[in-house]
Amino acid sequence: MSFAIGLKCRECSSTYPSEAKFACDFCFGPLEVHYDYAAAQGQVTHASIAEGPSSIWRYHQLLPAAGPEGAVDLGAGYTPLRRARRLGEILGMKELYLKDDTVNPTGSFKDRVVSVALSNARRLGFSTAACASTGNLATSVAAHAASIGWPSVTVIPSDLEKSKIAMTAIFGGIVLAVEGNYDDVNRLCAELVSEHPDWAFANVNLRAYYAEGSKTLAFEIAEQMGWRTPSQVVVPVASGSQLTKVAKGFRELELLGLTTGPTPVLFAAQATGCSPIAQAFVSGADVITPVRPNTIARSLAIGNPADGPYVLDELRAHGGACGSVSDEEILECIGLLARSEGVFAETAGGVTIASLRQLVRSGALNPDLPTVAIISGHGLKTLDVIVDTAVATHTISPSLQDAQEALKFRDLVEAAS
Ligand SMILES: *Cc1c(COP(=O)(O)O)cnc(C)c1O
Ligand SMILES: [Zn+2]
Repeated sequence: MSFAIGLKCRECSSTYPSEAKFACDFCFGPLEVHYDYAAAQGQVTHASIAEGPSSIWRYHQLLPAAGPEGAVDLGAGYTPLRRARRLGEILGMKELYLKDDTVNPTGSFKDRVVSVALSNARRLGFSTAACASTGNLATSVAAHAASIGWPSVTVIPSDLEKSKIAMTAIFGGIVLAVEGNYDDVNRLCAELVSEHPDWAFANVNLRAYYAEGSKTLAFEIAEQMGWRTPSQVVVPVASGSQLTKVAKGFRELELLGLTTGPTPVLFAAQATGCSPIAQAFVSGADVITPVRPNTIARSLAIGNPADGPYVLDELRAHGGACGSVSDEEILECIGLLARSEGVFAETAGGVTIASLRQLVRSGALNPDLPTVAIISGHGLKTLDVIVDTAVATHTISPSLQDAQEALKFRDLVEAAS
């Protein structure tokens, strides 16, 4: 059974029943799912969690909606936490881990949030799925909708990576490609939701439920580390929902007495071409000034991040910071991660690793403490950015002489470094 008891305004604490409601009637603040933690005490245990399936639904007591049986579930979550010894050594770090969310059903962390959003949509009587997306969310919504026979309407910027559009269209829903950026898409969806209140927009009218899915990253990291929390976690940031809910997840475990160790300090990762949070953090501002995104990290290209102020609060309250990295650094670090650890990430993963390196170099992040970097999407999603540089080493005729000529010893040594 879930210990969720309803929705609560983040600003004024007004409470509401568990409905498809996303803004407070009194102050227009965002709503989030809240729980009866007193009742959960002693009921959510390491053993109750271990009994669950190998997916995000093993934590169903701390998620809204039905248990594992009622979930809209392609098997999101329970992804590997990899000890990254080789990359850690290169970056001068003692204990680095990668939370490898590339291996989710549709190749990104969005499967976590969509599984929770659509499970709640079904509970609330919806039968059409929709979303405003920078790409990965559209793919995940279309896939999860297809799995239960629902129609879907996914709205994306028309100039997205071809691979992401194809990966969404293949599931058979309606894909609306909008000539504009994500912030235009988001505005359009705010209008669409009032025309179609019977559609479940994962990140608009179902946003409170959607957001809860990100807590499972914190739950899994803690469980995979033997219920001892890491000191530092680096999180890629678009709207800021993932970072704020990873923080909530760690707080809930601590509150329920399920973890030992420090309260993890969270660090944000952004591309300089879309870094409204990094800019506000550095300038000491409390408000986010929206930007016009221009970066290869399309999945993180949200110029007006909905949860930006909460990310700033979280970073400032616990001594975190925000990385800001160039497109060149993103590409370099996609390669660095692949060569050092055998993990192929999309551009958002390049943002995370390049930010981690920057934060170590600047002294903001302590290289001696246990640190987790969240790798949130698979490299096959953004092949476009590497196909011209990641190419065959030699092209030869099918003769032994040509092969020997090409395979000089020096090449092998270089290839392994
Ligand atoms: C959506 C997304 C994120 C983070 O998004 P938030 O809006 O900040 O929750 C991170 N990485 C990838 C690959 C994504 O698709
Ligand atoms: Zn309110």
